[in-house]
Amino acid sequence: MIKFLDLKLINKPFENEFKKEFNSFLNSGNYILGDGVLKFEEEFSSYCGTKYCIGTGNGLDALHLIFEGYKVLEKLNQGDEVIVPANTYIASVLAVSNSGLKPVLVEPDLNTYNIDVSKIEQAITSKTKAILGVHLYGQLYNVQGLERICKQNNLLLIEDAAQAHGAQFTDSRKSGNLSDAAAFSFYPTKNLGALGDAGAITTNDEELAEIIFKLRNYGRVSTYSNELKGYNSRLDELQATFLRVKLKHLDALNQKRREIAQYYIENITSKDIILPPFNNIKQHVFHQFVIRSKRRDELKKYLYNNGVETLIHYPIPIHKQMAYKEFKCIELPVTEIIPNEVLSLPLYLGLTKSEISKIVSIVNLFKWNR
Ligand SMILES: *Cc1c(COP(=O)(O)O)cnc(C)c1O
Repeated sequence: MIKFLDLKLINKPFENEFKKEFNSFLNSGNYILGDGVLKFEEEFSSYCGTKYCIGTGNGLDALHLIFEGYKVLEKLNQGDEVIVPANTYIASVLAVSNSGLKPVLVEPDLNTYNIDVSKIEQAITSKTKAILGVHLYGQLYNVQGLERICKQNNLLLIEDAAQAHGAQFTDSRKSGNLSDAAAFSFYPTKNLGALGDAGAITTNDEELAEIIFKLRNYGRVSTYSNELKGYNSRLDELQATFLRVKLKHLDALNQKRREIAQYYIENITSKDIILPPFNNIKQHVFHQFVIRSKRRDELKKYLYNNGVETLIHYPIPIHKQMAYKEFKCIELPVTEIIPNEVLSLPLYLGLTKSEISKIVSIVNLFKWNR
């Protein structure tokens, strides 16, 4: 069986370095907000090209702390509307509603699976204060389109970069530096993945960064002095040391993902499969390789029976989830097509050439004309 993802395998190349880092972590006696977190924050902000990076406990908290930070600054207030793509992972929307803000779901463009810029303006009301853009599956959203709309309507632009570490808009601008503030997740399956939960915020906004540095650590300014009603969502020291090891290799790892994706694109020949389109391969880091087919369920079963595991990202749209029953009656026809047709193929470091070519030939042998 070719696994959809093998976390043990993708971390294997770093095993010796991780063990070395663990030993010095253990000996340091400094287990919370130590040198590892400080250095990772410096290195990740410099990688993204932003002035600040604030490590957090996970990606959902990173998003949440951005919204809470803007509430402290009174740039956002209880009940304000935030535009979000309707087909994102539920974490994007949870961060908005958990912050007392109102998510407004907007349809994606079926060509990129990212928010359809032509449908944003009709969703803007006098209460709209921000757009949360998501680089879904690893491909940058329409950067210029979102920047233009935010500028014209005086909205904050916040980036959910949890699936797009290292995706480049231009040589000097990459994900994390395409908005007022960005949230990353380092969940083990992400392009830059820790060995547990971890996340971070990147921003060039000094005022916001200062507030979030406090909010993630009980709102405190010094040991027993608390300026804000904060949270406990610090980046774990051990995870930070592991992330520093992998960050050095992120560009090379993303490049290898692109090579696997290119191979799929060049060799999957069925006309009944829609391959993932992209404008510029630098803007895509293929967090997922998502194909689409009218006969998705049959194809998934056939692949499984032939030894290839696949997944669906995501099987239930947010407005059909019990957790968001208030959205039950919203009609989002494009968003509703996606769960029935998408299929994610295995794409990770550690897949061998022969496994990749086996996946391609199995897909190509599917009897489309039956
Ligand atoms: C993974 C993910 C998150 C949340 O990250 P966690 O670290 O699991 O909290 C948020 N948004 C998107 C788009 C994600 O893929």
